[in-house]
Amino acid sequence: VVNRTPLIAGNWKMNLDHLQAVAFVQKLHWSLKDAKHDDGSVEVAVFPPFTDLRTVQTLIDADKIPFALGAQDLSAHDSGAYTGEISGSFLSKLDCTFVIIGHSERRQYHAETDEIVAAKVQAAIRHGISPVICVGETSDDLEKFGASAVPVGQLQIALEGVPADAEIVVAYEPVWAIGSGQAATPEQAQDVCAKLREVIADKLGPEAAERTRVLYGGSVKSSNIASFMREPDVDGALVGGASLVVDEFAAIIRYQK
Ligand code: PEP
Repeated sequence: VVNRTPLIAGNWKMNLDHLQAVAFVQKLHWSLKDAKHDDGSVEVAVFPPFTDLRTVQTLIDADKIPFALGAQDLSAHDSGAYTGEISGSFLSKLDCTFVIIGHSERRQYHAETDEIVAAKVQAAIRHGISPVICVGETSDDLEKFGASAVPVGQLQIALEGVPADAEIVVAYEPVWAIGSGQAATPEQAQDVCAKLREVIADKLGPEAAERTRVLYGGSVKSSNIASFMREPDVDGALVGGASLVVDEFAAIIRYQK
């Protein structure tokens, strides 16, 4: 029996400063109050900008808000002369459970290669943080190679040298679906997520493949979340735009109800 707790992850990107973050998290928590979102049936994680993390950590802790915290990136290095970079050790001290690695916007605007992504995955694991490894094809890739070849290749490199017992999350995010309003179909998402699970099985073994959550991301909304969650190999969603609207994100979290 497959028993993976669904994960709904909100990637805020470069939105909401630390003051706005407080109001947002409080409102989201409030709007979920009657939804029993802390009964363990769905895990919720928010990924604010670095400068918000300490504030959100304090709020979550003080008000016992059942959201996990994640960062949007980290350095491949642990410390030293890397101006502007953030170490995994800093993130783990802020109770970050997760860190997004290899988001398409990092790959595209910051020239992050598969090798850099792999080094960052190692850094996250060194510091006890679960990497949320993002993979996905552009529309050009889709035309040339089909949907799965590029994300499968990206994941194979990202998982190089990862121990079998590492807690990781994989997010399939077709680049053409991110922020476009044009989500993949549930069947497309299922097909690629199943292939990504095969990569996990291949690299980390069948037990890891069975336990690891594979998310879909790309124009997820309250109106389409349930259709993705019905697919056997889709274990949650990485949500961008819709994670910034309290009622919409709350409705995504409550997809079962
Ligand atoms: C993302 O950036 O991870 C994402 C999925 O964005 P959106 O939900 O806005 O498409």
